[in-house]
Amino acid sequence: MKTLNKNYINGCWVDWNGSMLDVHEAATGEVIARVPMSDSAQMDLAIAAANAAFDGWAESSVEQRLKVLGQLYAGLQQRSSEIAEAVSREVGMPLKLATAIQAGLPATVTKTYIDMLPDFAFVEQSGNSEVQYAPAGVVGCVTPWNYPLHQIILKVVPAISAGCTVVLKPSEIAPQAAYILAEILDETTLPAGVFNMVCGAGQTVGETLIRSPDVRMVSFTGSTRTGHAIAHAAADDFKRMSLEMGGKSASVVLPDADLEAAVKGTVSNCLLNSGQTCTALTRLLVPADRHDEACKLAAAAAGRMTPGNPMDETTRLGPLASAEQRNRVVDYIRRGVAEGATLIAGGPDAPEGLDKGYFVKATVFGNVDPNSTIAQEEIFGPVLCVIPYSDEAEALRIANGTAYGLSAAVWSRNQEKAKAFASKLRTGQVTVNGGSFNPQAPFGGFGHSGIGREFGKWGLEEFLEVRSLQL
Ligand code: NAD
Repeated sequence: MKTLNKNYINGCWVDWNGSMLDVHEAATGEVIARVPMSDSAQMDLAIAAANAAFDGWAESSVEQRLKVLGQLYAGLQQRSSEIAEAVSREVGMPLKLATAIQAGLPATVTKTYIDMLPDFAFVEQSGNSEVQYAPAGVVGCVTPWNYPLHQIILKVVPAISAGCTVVLKPSEIAPQAAYILAEILDETTLPAGVFNMVCGAGQTVGETLIRSPDVRMVSFTGSTRTGHAIAHAAADDFKRMSLEMGGKSASVVLPDADLEAAVKGTVSNCLLNSGQTCTALTRLLVPADRHDEACKLAAAAAGRMTPGNPMDETTRLGPLASAEQRNRVVDYIRRGVAEGATLIAGGPDAPEGLDKGYFVKATVFGNVDPNSTIAQEEIFGPVLCVIPYSDEAEALRIANGTAYGLSAAVWSRNQEKAKAFASKLRTGQVTVNGGSFNPQAPFGGFGHSGIGREFGKWGLEEFLEVRSLQL
């Protein structure tokens, strides 16, 4: 068990002697680490350090920033297996996948900024004006547990690339990768105070961070419920804000699509990381006359997702991250049955032989009413809703018929037809016929899924204020 009784403030590790929180292994429930439940005084120290460092870092050259990013990229690669194992144990993603995604993606994203920064125009001309892009100030970053390092990197890397200083409040449920990141950054040439990290609860240190008048921007990823509270607090002080929140994404199978490929693609996306993915395609919309066939295919695909310990090579479906999360998901499954949806695969009981840890069976519901709770609310577990539609107009209404708007998928043998349908979806991303993930494409939500965009130049622009000089 690791005792991480420290916070990273002003370029130093500061010991924490107050209360601590247990971090549990998702597959066993055992305590694997302990982290600080810091108080507001620790957070105030971190904010003061970021504030003091701001003027200097805002003036840093692109070369200085690139040097740090290069060192960070090397560090992330060196410590990849350690990051993957820590996140896999905390969150439940099978180790092989965690190595590629939980550890690999943060390095890939860092590299995209290394490649982009030299050509980014921090100054441009518009008529008789010089337009300058200036760092927004001290940024408060608040992040969730499901892709814990990835979500941190998507904030910290563009923020420091923009010349901002940062205070990070990582998720207290999956915090170990944040400590590895702070250790890596501690070894770089980043000046003291540019990056700070304080671990603790949202209601204490998180609130202190987002309410501080010295913090000029809040970058948050997490649930829509918390995002709502954060948006209110940030608005009180007119802070810039970027919010990445929940989703209830639809995968729309148009009548001419290859049903088997569409269902397979949707099920594997929905069950990635045991459904603990904000962009998970959790609603499968199929023509009514192909509903039963789609359900059969979905149940077969779910059945191939062997549940087990994420450290075991044969495991394809790991546990959920916490007992609270498991209980929430099981309640939704019971609710789906009570609301009259047809249980096609899985169900509320733990998979056989996996009574320790936070396991939930891969579950598929058929004949789901698009207005029912399980079709409207984010479940954040391995649960797919198959929803029949009568025509494309109805499919579009159902797809756009939730408060969310993060992601979607469209399937058709005719790519142009699929693109035309995709253009009517009120979501920040649409995957057309299984198009692959692009770490340079803008990512973010419409509606209750968020404000702002991450990745690429769009992610960098979030951290910049615009100033124009009339000449
Ligand atoms: P959460 O909202 O419970 O917590 C997120 C972070 O906010 C944590 O660090 C938490 O400590 C902090 N927090 C909680 N209350 C706070 C408060 N009052 N003030 C300040 N900080 C506070 O979310 P979670 O359970 O960790 O993550 C799961 C959610 O994240 C899901 O809804 C998922 O869809 C969403 N998510 C969204 C994206 C995206 O990019 N859109 C990506 C990943 C996860």
